[in-house]
Amino acid sequence: MVSTHNLGFSRIGAKRELKFALESYWKGQSTCEELKSCGKELRQRHWRLQSTLDLVPVGDFSFYDQVLDMSFTLGNLPERVRGFHGDPLDNYFRVARGRSAQSNHAYCCGDIAAGEMTKWFDTNYHYIVPEFTAATKFKLDSTRLLEQLIEAKKLGVKAKPVIIGPLTYLAIGKTKDGSDKLDLLPQLVQVYTNLLEDLAEQEVEWVQIDEPILVTELDANWQHAFKLAYHQLKASRVKLLLATYFGQLADNQYLAANLPVAGLHVDAINSRHEVLPLIGMLPSHMVLSIGVINGRNIWKTDLTATLDWLEPLAERLMDRLWIAPSCSLLHVPVDLDSEENIDSDIKSWLAFAQQKLEELHILSIALNQGREAVREQLASNHVAIEDRSHSARVHNPAVREALGKLTPKLGQRQNVYAQRARKQAALLNLPKYPTTTIGSFPQTAEIRLARSQFKSRELDYSGYQLAMKAEIERSVREQEALGLDVLVHGEAERNDMVEYFGEKLEGYAFSQFGWVQSYGSRCVKPPILFGDISRPQAMTVSWIKYAQSLTSKPMKGMLTGPVTILNWSFVRDDQPRAVSCYQLALAIREEVLDLEKAGINIIQIDEAALREGLPLRKSQWKEYLNWAVESYRIAANGVKDETQIHTHMCYSEFNDIIAAIAEMDADVITIETSRSDMELLDAFDNFNYPNEIGPGVYDIHSPNIPTQEHIIQLMQKAAERVPAERLWVNPDCGLKTRQWEEVLPALTNMVAAAKKLRATA
Ligand code: GLN
Ligand code: ZN
Repeated sequence: MVSTHNLGFSRIGAKRELKFALESYWKGQSTCEELKSCGKELRQRHWRLQSTLDLVPVGDFSFYDQVLDMSFTLGNLPERVRGFHGDPLDNYFRVARGRSAQSNHAYCCGDIAAGEMTKWFDTNYHYIVPEFTAATKFKLDSTRLLEQLIEAKKLGVKAKPVIIGPLTYLAIGKTKDGSDKLDLLPQLVQVYTNLLEDLAEQEVEWVQIDEPILVTELDANWQHAFKLAYHQLKASRVKLLLATYFGQLADNQYLAANLPVAGLHVDAINSRHEVLPLIGMLPSHMVLSIGVINGRNIWKTDLTATLDWLEPLAERLMDRLWIAPSCSLLHVPVDLDSEENIDSDIKSWLAFAQQKLEELHILSIALNQGREAVREQLASNHVAIEDRSHSARVHNPAVREALGKLTPKLGQRQNVYAQRARKQAALLNLPKYPTTTIGSFPQTAEIRLARSQFKSRELDYSGYQLAMKAEIERSVREQEALGLDVLVHGEAERNDMVEYFGEKLEGYAFSQFGWVQSYGSRCVKPPILFGDISRPQAMTVSWIKYAQSLTSKPMKGMLTGPVTILNWSFVRDDQPRAVSCYQLALAIREEVLDLEKAGINIIQIDEAALREGLPLRKSQWKEYLNWAVESYRIAANGVKDETQIHTHMCYSEFNDIIAAIAEMDADVITIETSRSDMELLDAFDNFNYPNEIGPGVYDIHSPNIPTQEHIIQLMQKAAERVPAERLWVNPDCGLKTRQWEEVLPALTNMVAAAKKLRATA
């Protein structure tokens, strides 16, 4: 018999119940008990939804983050949160957010620095980074896990506790004192041994131990550490299912196959070709769990094709074959059935978490009882798959034709930067150290009200348009009064920098409840890129033209780049990402050319998510950067020399992608630098980056108002690395999350600082 299991489930809830419970608790509007009971209800509901499985994940529920949970389980808390005397859950939120919900503890225990957050592998989920020093002492606290386990067992759930493995836990954390994290391993493994013992006490048979780090490049020390750790854990009374996901084992395959564990889970969506060789390597007692349902996208699985592939494997492995989603279903929305507005054709092609579990169930019946037992389900799945693959809504011959005509020339500016810069300077006549902003101005209560009234049809389009125009006018007036050199329209009409474009492009669909947890209580609702992308009409031109009509200063057109639109969407699985990206690039290119035609001389194309698309293995970076940069170039570089192209990236690690950035050949790039004290400009300096740079001079995430002196100091540091003639002065990122009361004094100081710099230059 083939068994089924799941690696993890969403915890936020189909209607984001946990988000609202958390936020209400943090605001002091509900009690800790109410929050805990919401958690309990969600756990139970989600276990029920998984009841057809042979093994159900337990311990994957989290009030904030599963990595932070693991830090608490291992007793690895930063020094600064020790000695808190409120509810432990509150202490947990202190590490996560820097403060507890119980304000009375602000006096006795104080607010603290929140733990650093970073992306969980190549997903859009962010975890709280474990902190280590040479002095770190681990101490087991299995309370949370045992409580959930007991709760599950009471309900008759066939529980498989889920924990993060010791190597992955170490690898994704940071040492604070430069010590070697691997020195902590013997001590850490001891705590894991005790933890497994506690689980064995509960008569648990299987424990899932996640080691996704195995799909990344590991050096010899880490490979060796894997062997050491798992040889020690071998003595445990529970069976370990070592789970890998998000990629290929590649050169770690032999290592993974030979660790002394009872089972291994692999992601067959990303590494199907590795499965057969792996079976050959696997000791004959070992279970192989194959992740056959994509846990990262929202498409239906082709069940027939999957069965064609799985059946011979099932014959060979028999009881040793388990099937599962490729990774935790944390990364997909919960339930497609609640969607009322997705077009019925498109909806019939989709599967969210619940539907993915049904698919798994169908596969297991087919494997165990024969396809006949699920003939109808397989037939209707087949119809959906066929329908999608032939649909005219997916395939647009005109787009295909345009794509067939791509040439490198499309991505090339007419002349090199130095020549363009002269023509642009003559046209724009900007002062030295020109000032600008990154695009958005505060999304005020008026903007949000108008948008929600427009959505609920209380306001018609012309009323909505008037409201947005009023906001645009306000931001133009403010910018003129501030004395900024290059103005923006402020993005009042955009709810989100990707969704806005998705809504205007052909080939995109939107869900109502397709939320995926990004961090803590925050969720994102990625638009669904389902078909060939085209642009039926201009998307931004009328707003930008209107903004330009209000001022004689240059107005910067504002677009989101193809790579960022792609990386923040659910994308097609029926063609390479690169193809979707090129299609987006052609659509954005048309918009760029229309803006230019409308007399807009400066156009910014944001690529905030370029870096986060980098594959997990460095060996694959080059290929990604090739098509990503080429897509950007196609979008941006069709303009004449006089048109100045800006791009913006809001992060601070450029060292390893600086060559790609230079390839993009934007006339101006604005980046986030203020928190790094301009040191990250070294990457540009060392590379001799030739074009203009606007290093952010203040952190827009903070409500603090930057002083003139501080801005001047930062710009002086910048000028030591980049010639002053090529420097711009701007904030780190867009201002949409700030209030006008904060923006005005901050920009006043920024403009004053630029003037002083000019006077002394
Ligand atoms: N133009 C966008 C804004 O100003 C850029 C945001 C971003 O890079 N994340 O909001
Ligand atoms: Zn930004």
